[in-house]
Amino acid sequence: MIHTNNLTKRYEGQVALDRLNLTVKEGDIFCLLGANGAGKTTTINLLLGFIAPTEGSASIDGMNVFESNKATKKVVAYIPENLMLYPSLTAVENLDYFSGIAGKKLSTSQLEAFLAEAGLQKEAFRKRISTFSKGMRQKVGIAIALAKDAKALLLDEPTSGLDPKASNEFGQLLQKLREKGVATLMATHDLFRAKEVATHIGIMKDGQLKQQFTANDISLSELEKAYLDTMDYKEKVS
Ligand code: ATP
Repeated sequence: MIHTNNLTKRYEGQVALDRLNLTVKEGDIFCLLGANGAGKTTTINLLLGFIAPTEGSASIDGMNVFESNKATKKVVAYIPENLMLYPSLTAVENLDYFSGIAGKKLSTSQLEAFLAEAGLQKEAFRKRISTFSKGMRQKVGIAIALAKDAKALLLDEPTSGLDPKASNEFGQLLQKLREKGVATLMATHDLFRAKEVATHIGIMKDGQLKQQFTANDISLSELEKAYLDTMDYKEKVS
């Protein structure tokens, strides 16, 4: 569903992403780990078509994201660390607006059903987004993905700043989407959450995907060791 082929982004004098080959299948949750500057956000921005690659290609649902940007956007939902919603509109109004952009005309009861499925409490449906916690805003993001019937979900540090309960709830929502066959790519610094939700985990450094694991094949402590080894922190912790 999500595929990159030698995807590369160079800025003057700097390689932000270096020949990334990545595949995220339907129902997979691929978590990308890596220190600041490793290339995670660059990967997501390339997949969203926000920036153009220097070399290589990327596709979503078989469509080249740079050549068919409009078409790919229809099947992709994106949740960054701080989701851009209209603060003076309610949750229902925001969902109505963003699902409308995606070409879905939904009734009020359908909109409410998606918000409920995303775990938002009923009392919050008609409150302005400006009164929402970050966890509640992220639930609206999931509701948008559900309403769009997104096939691919791109997440850039979506649990950063969430309390453990909200982060856990977010992880459970990702599992729900996974069961629907959504392919998810999530950049995160949270090794624990990655191990909890991922089917596959990759560790990036200096724009390169250095290691890849099937999540079931590795324990949290092994993952932490692999991460630290990749970051060259080995000497400091041993
Ligand atoms: P973080 O965890 O801090 O979000 P990241 O893994 O998402 O980090 P990127 O934001 O993808 O890292 O950055 C990868 C590299 O590319 C960094 O060295 C960054 O400085 C560089 N970079 C990103 N955007 C630009 C730009 N517009 N111009 C020049 N260099 C850039």
